[in-house]
Amino acid sequence: MKTVFSNYSFGAGVATGLVNTSALVRIGTGEVLTDPEALTCFLEEHEVRLDALPRGALPADRDLAEVLALRTRTRVLLESGDEDEVAEGANELTARALTGPALLRDTEGKWAWHAATGARISLAEELGALVGIGLLGVLHTLGHQRFRHCASPVCAGMFVDTSKAGRRRYCMPGLCGNRQNVANYRARHQEEAQPGPGSVTGTR
Ligand SMILES: [Zn+2]
Repeated sequence: MKTVFSNYSFGAGVATGLVNTSALVRIGTGEVLTDPEALTCFLEEHEVRLDALPRGALPADRDLAEVLALRTRTRVLLESGDEDEVAEGANELTARALTGPALLRDTEGKWAWHAATGARISLAEELGALVGIGLLGVLHTLGHQRFRHCASPVCAGMFVDTSKAGRRRYCMPGLCGNRQNVANYRARHQEEAQPGPGSVTGTR
C-alpha cells in the first residue's frame, strides 16, 4: 500500500468506521464484523485496497481476529485523554507496517510524500498503518479535540472529525443524527399533547 501522508482524512474515516462496527455501538443490529465476508464488505465500503489481500481473495479467520484486536486498540486510542499516548500508540501502529516514507507522484502527477508498507505484512498490520497515519495526521494538523464521543445519548460510538468546520457531532450522522432528531421531535410533541399545570384550557 502506498498512501499520501497528507491524506489523513481517509485513514481517520477508516478508524471511525472500524470502531463503530462493534456490538457496543451497534446496539440495534449487533456486531458487524461477524465473519471474513463481513470484513471484505467493510473494506469495500470504505474503498480500502490492501496489498495483503489480493482482489477477490477472502480474509482468513486469523485476519478477522487480528482486525478485531486492531479495532480494540483503535478505540482505546480514540478514548484516551492523553494525546502523547495517542501519538505513541498510533506511531506503533504505523511502525510495524511501514518501510519508510517515499517521495512519489500522486494521482495528479505531483510529488508527494507517501507512506509505503512492506511486502510481508498481514492484513491487520496494513490496515493498522492506514489507521495510524489517519490518527497521526489529525493529531498533527487538526488537534486532539477532533477525537470525540458521539453526541447521541444512546450511542457509544466515537469518531474522528476531519470536517473543515470541526462541528461534527455524531459517529454515524445518517443514523445517530436522525435518531436524535426523531427523539427531539417526539419530545416536543409530547410536551404539546400534555399541557403543563399552568396552562389554561377550556375557560372563557
Ligand atoms: Zn453515534
